[in-house]
Amino acid sequence: MSTLVLPDPSLVVLIGAAGSGKSTLAARLFPPDEILSSDAMRAVVSGDEADQRATAVAFGIVHRTIARRMDRGEMTVVDATNTRAEHRRPLVDRARAVGVPVIALVLDLPPAVIHAQNAARTSRVVDPAVVDRHLAAVRRTVDQGELSRGGFDHVVLLRSPTEVASLRIERQGPARPREPAPVSNKQK
Ligand code: ATP
Ligand code: MG
Repeated sequence: MSTLVLPDPSLVVLIGAAGSGKSTLAARLFPPDEILSSDAMRAVVSGDEADQRATAVAFGIVHRTIARRMDRGEMTVVDATNTRAEHRRPLVDRARAVGVPVIALVLDLPPAVIHAQNAARTSRVVDPAVVDRHLAAVRRTVDQGELSRGGFDHVVLLRSPTEVASLRIERQGPARPREPAPVSNKQK
């Protein structure tokens, strides 16, 4: 078992191909109100989580929500493929602007595992060619060290189903709900 000590708040950016298990992992580790999912937002916008025409509007809402949550100091998980640097950058910049640590959680599993998980889905099987494009992008991202250069404070690579299954998180930070510091008249 490995334990990830996570400052609270943090911005956790999931990175992984369609079918790699991002939503499943997020649901195991975080309460639903901390997870911002591009698919869930597409479903809200268009009634169909796979409707790519809703992508721009959905991500607009995701970005505004992240901005608000960062300003309030709320733990936030971004559940989207996030395989492209230009998609990750605004997320990272927003958190860093307010001093919130940014953690990349990368589902860098063997392609055969991801394709099998995608194929076995009961709903929304993603075109394997699209999954292959995501896999190639994740490979480049990890192998070329883009994440450590890209402003992430910590990069966690999960490289096998066992590593995914054994990951635990331990929050470190102010007890929630966040309260203003108590006023004291005590003189030193
Ligand atoms: P997308 O980017 O398309 O939303 P995703 O990365 O969120 O994909 P999930 O929906 O979490 O992927 O998982 C894809 C499929 O793989 C699901 O059917 C899920 O039940 C299965 N799955 C996810 N994680 C695991 C796991 N650790 N072991 C076995 N099956 C898994
Ligand atoms: Mg998902």
